[in-house]
Amino acid sequence: MKKILVVGAGGQIGTELVPHLQKHYGKENVIAADLRDEMVAKLQTFATGIKLDAMDYEAFDKTVKEYNIDSIFNLVALLSATGEKNPQFAWKLNMGALLNSLNIALENHCALFTPSSIGAFGESTPHDDTPQDTVMRPNTMYGVCKVSGELLSDYYHTRFGVDTRSVRFPGIISYGCLPGGGTTDYAVEVFYEILKTGHYTCPIPKDAYMDMLYMPDALNAVTTLMEADPSKLVHRNSFNITSMSFTPEQLFACIKKRIPTATFDYDVDPVRAAIAHSWPNKMDDSCARKEWGWKPQWGIEEMVDDMLKHIAEKLGL
Ligand code: NAD
Repeated sequence: MKKILVVGAGGQIGTELVPHLQKHYGKENVIAADLRDEMVAKLQTFATGIKLDAMDYEAFDKTVKEYNIDSIFNLVALLSATGEKNPQFAWKLNMGALLNSLNIALENHCALFTPSSIGAFGESTPHDDTPQDTVMRPNTMYGVCKVSGELLSDYYHTRFGVDTRSVRFPGIISYGCLPGGGTTDYAVEVFYEILKTGHYTCPIPKDAYMDMLYMPDALNAVTTLMEADPSKLVHRNSFNITSMSFTPEQLFACIKKRIPTATFDYDVDPVRAAIAHSWPNKMDDSCARKEWGWKPQWGIEEMVDDMLKHIAEKLGL
């Protein structure tokens, strides 16, 4: 029986990962923790929600012991676009929360999942069919943290035997909770703006091609990887996974097909444009497919239908 602690549970991924884990492992076996009071209050409406600062080692360790936790999901991070506004703090938070998670996992014999990102790649990485093992020289603090995190997580596995596992998430598209300051946020924001006002001004260049994943596939990736037979895992930190790649122009064409009155223009943010430009167009996820059976279900057309349906419902339209 798994007893799970999700830290940073109040964000875009956590608010949907918690119910997904509850479904798999039982509601009483998932503890959802976040730093921000409003997130904790939201989590408490459907889970055992607690306030916890992942940077506070003592409190984190005490929580793991108190609830007999055997699996930690560490979602704490300052994301790519926000991280560039305060890179020193991004390093402190992203690496601090990870190091605490690793040491607490080691001390308490827990498995640990920490997502990496397409942000771990950079300009010099091959952009098409980006291999699992390749050049990783990112030029954002977010990316520097992700590469360092992957290395540290592998180190804790080989040196101390901690069961660390991870995926490199591309941009995650979802309707549950707004994204928290990443470069691919446009692919969520556009649905709200088009349904609310009929118009969207995009901060990303129209031809910026990036990998994306719809939330149901992202959630399945997490549980499938964490359940995978360890003897089959050649890699651990971290696996390329993707299910669709598109440019803003291609996504907007799909939306316009369904809402012909929708209009779009661009007011490009140079920081986000540079980040988008440095990321892969499409990752090769064959290692994930081979080593633990990664098999995404959602493509762009089905995702657009589902997003429009659910966000319209949410907005009461
Ligand atoms: P998010 O910003 O939406 O959520 C992060 C949560 O962490 C927030 O609720 C925040 O309150 C909480 N938090 C911040 N500092 C904390 C602390 N000290 N202690 C406890 N909680 C704290 O992020 P997300 O989009 O849910 O991303 C989760 C993970 O997935 C991150 O590691 C991120 O890098 C990775 N990822 C996300 C995406 C994406 O598109 N969303 C893509 C690639 C990778």
